Amino acid sequence: MSSTNEPVIDPKEVLEGIVEWIEIESPSHDAVAVNRMVDKVEGQFRDLGLSIERTPGRDGWGDVLTARTPWGEGKGVLVLAHLDTVHPIGTIERELKVRQEGDAVFGPGIYDMKAGGYIAYYALRHLVRQGKKTRLPVTFMFIPEEEVGSPTSRAMIENAARGHKYCLVMEPGRDGDRVVTSRKGVGRFVMTVTGRASHAGAKHEDGRSAILEMARQILRIEGRTDYERGITVNVGLIQGGTGVNVIPAACTAEIDLRVPDPAMAEEMEHWFLNLEPIGADVEVKVEGGMNRPPYRKDAGISALFEKAQAIYRELGMELKDVPLTGGGSDGNFTAALGIPTLDGLGADGKGAHAAYEQIYYSSLKPRTYLCARLLETLE
Ligand SMILES: [Zn+2]
Repeated sequence: MSSTNEPVIDPKEVLEGIVEWIEIESPSHDAVAVNRMVDKVEGQFRDLGLSIERTPGRDGWGDVLTARTPWGEGKGVLVLAHLDTVHPIGTIERELKVRQEGDAVFGPGIYDMKAGGYIAYYALRHLVRQGKKTRLPVTFMFIPEEEVGSPTSRAMIENAARGHKYCLVMEPGRDGDRVVTSRKGVGRFVMTVTGRASHAGAKHEDGRSAILEMARQILRIEGRTDYERGITVNVGLIQGGTGVNVIPAACTAEIDLRVPDPAMAEEMEHWFLNLEPIGADVEVKVEGGMNRPPYRKDAGISALFEKAQAIYRELGMELKDVPLTGGGSDGNFTAALGIPTLDGLGADGKGAHAAYEQIYYSSLKPRTYLCARLLETLE
């Protein structure tokens, strides 16, 4: 028997499949576009013999697609990927034309994270082609609105995670054969300041400036950034005032918080929600809380990471993990439930969300191999 008949992981074929996904542009806010992407992926998994469950989108978001292997018993492997991107329709004809320059392949959402989603699909297809099955049942879940914080799919992700033994997240890989084993938690808050409007010339003394109060609050809030403890705070949006000659009665600010562990999440959430006015005769209200809990590298995650490292060594390569990253993902939800979660399993590249978004062609083969062998061997 010639070994040429053995199915191989063909990076050219992997790339062709990724490009088909890229050509279906799917910005989070365009549910019709995202669902065109869902149609494509649903058909591909159906053809592999998986059972499909499609949950209609809510609140204007796209559908959640779940595909399950018909084989395997007990708690299995949950594979997470999102099908939405941050790039508006038409990006593919303008700043992010699909093209290859040396090892770099460009396209909207190619790195974050259509390459990763496709790699997971191809990995399973590779096993099926070889007549192999995974030891554990595998559930693939495709999320339509991850880029806006998974507002409608979060509960589904958490429910699914509780019924699984491991979670693999196909988010972008990190430079030089790195994956993600921890992420900071993400909090979002909105501060509203209410003052008192007045004529800025005739009745200045009667006014209470909401913008002045907000300015003082911002200095206090931004002062909580503490790089040593790993806490960062960013007032990213601010809105207030009605005219240059009016003492402003209202001002709102939106705040992003990142914290490395649950204790700090609780500490900071408590601090934000109890902020008091600094000036006289003004009201301050804060709403919000933690949006993604911290994802910490515990013993279960370390053990899963070691399995991945052993697989990578079969290729003569060394898999590493990145130091605690500030970017959140759906992996935060599953890891916080205590499900061993390995993230950043997608293609290596750079420029997530940017006009130079790209993957490295040379990473497709080892990353697909890693995913296929994890699916095959996890038990
Ligand atoms: Zn992503």
